[in-house]
Amino acid sequence: MAGEVDILQTPIEFLKGVGPKRGEVLRKEFDISTYQDLLTYYPYRHIDKTHVYHIRDIVENGGYIQLRGTVSNVQELGQQRAKRLTAVFRDETGSIDLVWFNGIKWVQDMLQKQQEYIIFGKPTLFNGRWNMTHPEMIDPANQISAAVPMSFMPLYNTSDFAKKKTLDSKAIAKLVANLLPVVRHLIPETLPDKMVHDLNLMPLRDAYCNIHYPENSAALAKAAQRLKFDELFFTQMKLLSLKLINTQTTPGHLFSKVGDYFNNFYKNYVPFQLTNAQKRVIKEIRADVGSGHQMNRLLQGDVGSGKTIIALFIMLLAKDNQFQSCLMAPTEILATQHYEKISKLLAPLGLRVEFLSGTTKTAKRRQLLAGLQNGDVDILIGTHALIEDNVVFKNLGLVIIDEQHRFGVEQRAKLWRKSATPPHILVMTATPIPRTLAMTLYGDLDVSVIDEMPQGRKPIITKHLYDKDRLALYGFLKKQIAAGRQVFIVYPLIKESEKLDLLDLMAGYEAIQHDFPEPEYAIGIVHGKMSPEDKDFEMQRFAKNQSQILLSTTVIEVGIDVPNATVMVIENAERFGLSQLHQLRGRVGRGGNQSYCILMSKYELSSEGRQRLNAMVSTNDGFEIANFDLKLRGPGDIQGTQQSGMLDFKIADLSKDEQLVAYTRKLAMRILETDPALSSLENQRIANTLKEIMKREKNWTRIS
Ligand code: ADP
Ligand code: MG
Repeated sequence: MAGEVDILQTPIEFLKGVGPKRGEVLRKEFDISTYQDLLTYYPYRHIDKTHVYHIRDIVENGGYIQLRGTVSNVQELGQQRAKRLTAVFRDETGSIDLVWFNGIKWVQDMLQKQQEYIIFGKPTLFNGRWNMTHPEMIDPANQISAAVPMSFMPLYNTSDFAKKKTLDSKAIAKLVANLLPVVRHLIPETLPDKMVHDLNLMPLRDAYCNIHYPENSAALAKAAQRLKFDELFFTQMKLLSLKLINTQTTPGHLFSKVGDYFNNFYKNYVPFQLTNAQKRVIKEIRADVGSGHQMNRLLQGDVGSGKTIIALFIMLLAKDNQFQSCLMAPTEILATQHYEKISKLLAPLGLRVEFLSGTTKTAKRRQLLAGLQNGDVDILIGTHALIEDNVVFKNLGLVIIDEQHRFGVEQRAKLWRKSATPPHILVMTATPIPRTLAMTLYGDLDVSVIDEMPQGRKPIITKHLYDKDRLALYGFLKKQIAAGRQVFIVYPLIKESEKLDLLDLMAGYEAIQHDFPEPEYAIGIVHGKMSPEDKDFEMQRFAKNQSQILLSTTVIEVGIDVPNATVMVIENAERFGLSQLHQLRGRVGRGGNQSYCILMSKYELSSEGRQRLNAMVSTNDGFEIANFDLKLRGPGDIQGTQQSGMLDFKIADLSKDEQLVAYTRKLAMRILETDPALSSLENQRIANTLKEIMKREKNWTRIS
C-alpha cells in the first residue's frame, strides 16, 4: 500500500453533502474529520423495514417491533410531575396507545406535522390495552438513497446541537449512503485472506457496508462480528507486541543477587508469616528482575491480601543490587501512610527512605532531589510528583505503582523514558479487575495474582439497612465502641455538587455529635476541603485511637490502615460504585476482631442500585464483585478506566464480548510466537495495519 493515497484519510468536507459548515459540526460534535471516521461511526440500531407488524398480530414479549399507521386523540394528561402525553395509534387491524413522559411539548409539535408514521418500540400490556412508551417515530416518506438497500434503516446517535444544524440521524445516514459507493472498493483488507476464510469472517469491505446498510439481519450480525474482531484482535496485537519488545528486546536492570538487605529483613523483621501466595508472587517477580529483561508486571490481589509487603521485598532486592526504587500512590494520604509504614519496617536496616509530594516544601525538596541524584536516597515514596521531569535519580531500578486504576498505558510509557535502561515496573491494583478488562487495560503486562488472604481473617459481615434502622445502628456502634473498637462513617462525594455533599457530611456530623456526645466519645471529620495538615491531624488522631468515630467523604477510600476499626458505615451507599464499596469495606477487617460493613440507603432504589447492594451483602470476594460490576455497568463506567483510551471501542463491548477478547488474545499470541517481527509474507497485512494504528497513536512510537 505504500505510496498510495489513502482515500479513507480524505477530509470529511470533501464528501458530497458535507462542505465546510457541516464539516465543522461533524468534527466538533462527533469527532468525525475523515472518511474513515464516518465509516466507523456505527449506527446504534436499525429499523427492520422488512417487517411491518399489524397491530392485531402483536404478542406479549415480542420485543421491539415496527408498525405503520396514523395518530389521533393527542392528549395531555396529569399535572406537573405526573404530566404525560398520550395518543392513539391506528392501523387497519386495530389500535394501541402511545405515551410520552418527557419532551411532551416537542412531541406535540411534531405530531401535528405529519399524518402517517412508522413507529418503532416495544409494546407492553397495560390495563388490557397495548401500550408503547416513547416510540421512535419515523416519517415513511423518508427515502435515503437508491444506491443502497433500505430494508434496514440505520439509526445514529446525534446531539441537540447537531440536530439544530440539520445533522440528525437521517442526515448522517444520508452522508454514509453517499460515502459507501465512493470508498467501498478501496477499503483495504486488514487480515490475510486465509485467516478471513479459516475463521469464517466477513471480508472487511462488506462488513463496513453491512454494518450501516445490511442486506439482511444475518449479514448485520456477521458485519458486527467482523468489526468487533478487528478491534479486539488489533488491540491484542498491539499490547502483545509491546510486551514482546519489553520482555525480549528491551534490556532491563539485572537484580542478580539476593543480598543482605533482603535476607536480613526476611529472617528477622517480617511481622507475620507470609502466605503461600505472597511467597509465590515474590518468586515470580524475582525471576523477572533477574532475567536481564525489563519487568512489566501487574500484581492483582483483593483488598487486604497483603500487596505492600511484596513491594517492600522487591525494593530491598533493588537495594541489594545497588539500585534505587520508588513507590507511587494516587493520593497524598495513601502515600503518607505507605511512607510511615515502610520507613518504620525498614528502620532497623539503615536505609534512607524519603517522601515526596506536591506539598513538599522547597527547601526539603531541594535537599531530597540532591539525595536522589547522588544516590543517597534508597527509596522514594510519594504521589504523581515522583514522575515529574525534574525528579532525577542516580540509578533508578524499580518503580512500583500502587492502587493503580488511574495510571494508563501511556503514563507507564513515560516511565520508560526516565532513563536509558527503563526501570522495572510493578503495578498493584486496589481492587481486582475482571479478566477481560485486565487483558485489555493491562494486556502489555505479565500478571501475578495473590489468591489467598492472610490467615486468621474473619470474613466481614455486611448488612444493608434503611433509615428506620438508624436507632438500632447507633446502639450497635455504641456497643462496638464500648468494646474498644472504632468506626468509620463515609459519605458519598459527587464532584458536581461538592457543596451539597459537604452539607450532607456536616448534617451527619451534627446528628452523630448529638447521639454520641462528648466527652464520652471523640469524633473526627475529614473532607476534601480541609488542608492536608488538618486532614493528617484528624487521621492520626483516629489511627492512635484518640477518636472513636471518623466521619469522612471518600478521601479514605484508598489505603488507610487502622486495624482497630471494625465498623464501616456507608451512608447513601446506593450512590457508590461497586468497586468503591468493596474498597471501602476493605478498610475494616484488618485486625483479629470481627468486623462489619453497614450499607445505609433510602428505601426506594433503582434496580441497579439494589443489585449492587445485594452483591455486596452476598459476597466478600473482590474478584466476584469485579465481574459483577462489569456485567452491570459495562467497562466504560468502571471506576478509573474512563481516561484510558484503551477502552474506547466503537463496537466491541468488554462486558459482553469476553469470549472474543480471550480468543483474539490467544490468536494474537500464536501469531507473534511464530512470527514475532511479523515479517512473513502471510502476515504482511497484519503488520501494515498495526503500523498504521501505531502511527495514529503517537504514544506507541516505541514500536515501529
Ligand atoms: P493490600 O493488598 O490491600 O494493599 P496491605 O498490604 O495493606 O493490603 O495489607 C493489609 C494488612 O494485612 C496489613 O495490615 C498488613 O500488615 C497485613 N498483612 C499482610 N500480609 C500478611 C500476612 N501474611 N499475615 C498477616 N497479616 C498480613
Ligand atoms: Mg494497599
